[in-house]
Amino acid sequence: MLSSRAQKIKPSPTLAIDARAKAMKASGIDVINFGVGEPDFDTPDNIKEAACRAIREGFTKYTPVGGIDPLKDAIIKKFHADNNLTYKREEIVVSCGAKHSLYNIAQALYGPGDEVIIPSPYWVSYPDQVLLNDAKPVFVRTLEKDSFMVKPEALEAAITDRTKALILNSPSNPTGMLYDRKTLEQIATLAVRHNFYVISDEIYEKLVYGGAAHISIASLDDEVKARTIVVNGLSKSHAMTGWRLGYAAGPADVIKAMTNIQSQSTSNPTSITQKAAVEALSGPQDFIAIMRSEFDKRRTFIVHELNTIPGMRCMTPNGAFYAFPNAADIYGSRFRDTTIASSTHLALYLLEEAKVALVPGDAFGDDNYLRISYATSLEDITKGMDRIRQAVRNLGPAT
Ligand code: PMP
Ligand code: GLU
Repeated sequence: MLSSRAQKIKPSPTLAIDARAKAMKASGIDVINFGVGEPDFDTPDNIKEAACRAIREGFTKYTPVGGIDPLKDAIIKKFHADNNLTYKREEIVVSCGAKHSLYNIAQALYGPGDEVIIPSPYWVSYPDQVLLNDAKPVFVRTLEKDSFMVKPEALEAAITDRTKALILNSPSNPTGMLYDRKTLEQIATLAVRHNFYVISDEIYEKLVYGGAAHISIASLDDEVKARTIVVNGLSKSHAMTGWRLGYAAGPADVIKAMTNIQSQSTSNPTSITQKAAVEALSGPQDFIAIMRSEFDKRRTFIVHELNTIPGMRCMTPNGAFYAFPNAADIYGSRFRDTTIASSTHLALYLLEEAKVALVPGDAFGDDNYLRISYATSLEDITKGMDRIRQAVRNLGPAT
């Protein structure tokens, strides 16, 4: 019999759809994969070379659990330069991906009886990590008309004396929206007044467009910084998803607890990856601007295309690499003798009939939407949009 904890969670839907699309591709089916959020760029050569050097030089043994000092120092410099945040080494822990950092936070902070506020739509792993620690996710719905930012009044209404933390994600996966300073200030005031932690997942920090500026909530003042754990990583900024490198910065007692938990689970992140990460953070950064400008072109194109598909409406995201069209007007239409009644039905229909993989909004807590990752070539985006348009045309009217 599995533990009650294991029975409460499901596999990551984003990874599951990616696996399905890849399996279809491997069996010879021409699938366009808008499923997973993973840059299609290769890791820059200087980073790869740093890893090769680490191997050649025999840097292949255990390291300190929470990361080597040169990497912690590179992270401290990055926080200072990019976010105007000052941390000491004991306020930093390096983990095997930002997902792992978030998991360690969950283990360190959440327990039975605790409530963790998660604005929805949310990234898929937040609720399950809360559940894995026997705590309760409390969802606060955000709306497109508010740029998917949580309204301070709605947040306040969800706060109880059991509220342990709020999970913020800006730029957001799946909506692509970015929090503005005023809203962050209002959230910070509530966090300080009600004394809860803010978990600020900033993994898409480098992917913002059109002059938008990313602001870390921890940088607003010392009181909110003392309650914030900032999570970041190299998967998105340096196209390093497979290397597994994420990190967290926050109060020393929380970081120490996370490091202890890590010492009993994974131990250090891969030694070779850590050397590569020092190069990623300290070496040339021009790669990021090149990747961002390419994503920006795709963003403009995909949003335009989606808005020409009958029944779809897509706002322009200002961060990350996801389009998040509202497809609810399509629900109720029919294909042969089945009704497309939800985002999951529509996503399955598009996968089976149009050979396009995308993630139903339901996985992120809002059934009205679909998530389309545009971290794929313009050629594939063009083909995929044509396929979706045709498949939607093939649907019959609601009966
Ligand atoms: N946070 C968000 C919002 C994400 O989209 C992802 C997916 N890559 C992660 C965290 C985890 O990233 P990784 O574990 O690859 O660093
Ligand atoms: N974060 C990416 C996504 O949302 C990767 C998949 C995952 O880690 O779940 O697609």
